[in-house]
Amino acid sequence: MSSKLRGKGVIAGIAIAKALILEQDLEKYIALYTPGNAEAEIGKVKKAIGEVADILAENVKTLTDKNMSEQAGIMEAHRVMVQDPMFEDNAVAKAGELKSAPRAVLAASEESAAMFENMEDSYFRERAVDIRDVGKRVVRQILGLKGPDIGEEPVILCGHEIEPSVIANIPTEQIAGVLLGQGSTTCHAVIIAKARAIPTVVGLGDKLKEIKSGASLVINGETGEVYVAPTEQQLIAFNEQIKEQNRLKAHYAELTSLPAETTDGHKVMLVANISTHLDVEAAVSGFGAEGVGLFRSEFLFMGRSEAPDEEMQFQAYKEAVEKCKGQLCVIRTMDIGGDKPLPYLNIPKEDNPFLGWRALRICLARRDIFMPQVKAILRAGVYGKAAMMLPMVIRLSEVDKVKQIIEEAKVLLTQENKPYSNSVQLGIMVETPAAAVMSPIFAKHVDFFSIGTNDLIQYTLAVDRVNSNVSYLYDPFNPGVLALIKRTIDSANKNKIWAGMCGEMASDPCAAVLLMAMGITELSMSAPSIPRVKELIRKVSMVEAKKALDKVMSMEHAADIKEYLHEKFNDKK
Ligand code: PEP
Ligand code: MG
Repeated sequence: MSSKLRGKGVIAGIAIAKALILEQDLEKYIALYTPGNAEAEIGKVKKAIGEVADILAENVKTLTDKNMSEQAGIMEAHRVMVQDPMFEDNAVAKAGELKSAPRAVLAASEESAAMFENMEDSYFRERAVDIRDVGKRVVRQILGLKGPDIGEEPVILCGHEIEPSVIANIPTEQIAGVLLGQGSTTCHAVIIAKARAIPTVVGLGDKLKEIKSGASLVINGETGEVYVAPTEQQLIAFNEQIKEQNRLKAHYAELTSLPAETTDGHKVMLVANISTHLDVEAAVSGFGAEGVGLFRSEFLFMGRSEAPDEEMQFQAYKEAVEKCKGQLCVIRTMDIGGDKPLPYLNIPKEDNPFLGWRALRICLARRDIFMPQVKAILRAGVYGKAAMMLPMVIRLSEVDKVKQIIEEAKVLLTQENKPYSNSVQLGIMVETPAAAVMSPIFAKHVDFFSIGTNDLIQYTLAVDRVNSNVSYLYDPFNPGVLALIKRTIDSANKNKIWAGMCGEMASDPCAAVLLMAMGITELSMSAPSIPRVKELIRKVSMVEAKKALDKVMSMEHAADIKEYLHEKFNDKK
């Protein structure tokens, strides 16, 4: 009978295929295993560890040759784990005690995994999955078991957790989708699926047990819906959606290398919003991002028990800058507070956190947090084109203070003999009404503006961005918001600095046309939105966009503006 489950959609797209449950019941095979004497079992542990290390080294080579550097990195980490002398010594000792090579390896990997699981940092906690994965691999080697048996047809991989080595070794064409019981969006299985744009739903929990291997499934990676044994009618409807999805995919792929250029030759830069340096590669090569317009660096500070040090930040920024391949990478300084709390900062409880101690306000008060970040960004600038962007600016003295801190950072870096760049641009987010109104002043003191509509709308309209009771009022096309945006772009152009937008509004194709007509230089958005925006820009002319802008700026109601833009541009998509 057909049933519907719901998880959390993390990678958009519809997939229809049979389920392949990946949890291999190792216990069943271990129960059938006949161990030899202690010496023989120790020998088997050592041999299997060596063989797995060789296989992983081979995997790393193949993945690197295929340019799948993220997966290669994960497999290399597994190779290091399996060759860790502590793991081998522990497994060997246990083989002596337990007189069973597979049980010894499982016990040793379980001990290491438990150690990681008790760590406060969620990154390290999630590495417990990798350690168990490595342990099971060695056990399968001892037992002579093969990996999952995938037939000709693509499948939806299902498991509470899917071992990174398993997913990394299945060719993309054979994976229609991924379905996980656990809810993390930063586990390696999700990271790999994201890099390959495979529709993924997580957080099914125990409901996953309702799915048996071979069951027909439909998953929607956007809504998180999962249909088990879908009806004929549902299948027909979803197949139609897949056809459209494939048509769009092929069409968007053709757009990847083309510029976002109007029919009369006006170009706009389309760049990506990212949360980690790991997102850059897919954004640039998969979706044609021409660099990064917003690196939300606060994600490096979250899920940890203390702030990341200068070195760790430097490595992350350097990698992001390098992967932009000569295009600009805009790193926003930590934007904690509001809806992004950070326990170790001990921010006292605030009645209005969005109006409280957040972002630059924290940085200017906590030099111990801010100075390492400034130094790390200046150092990363040596490896490409980098920019530093300040969030939540409301007065000029904040920019002046940051400039002073940048100078101090350079003195420190010189003393420490660390190379840094003198050409890192300094810009501000225009996300408060004060910054937008004062944009003619700010424009004389910074290299660029990036309009953060997510906050600008909430502060201009007095509408909490996360309060669903008032979400009907949250509107980028409110004429008050549009006036502030236009003022900001005008100020930038008059003062010969560039203006971009990194708020969600930039990913709406109709809004993008309007912003282009206002004279915006760059639009930054989540990478999968880039092709949709590019497509419309390539179909309009600057002349008609400017006409539409004139009309919009004379209109009095957001609803009329949206209807007008929709009618004028939507059928062009
Ligand atoms: C914004 O406010 O528009 C923005 C891009 O920043 P965030 O959503 O991270 O607050
Ligand atoms: Mg913001």
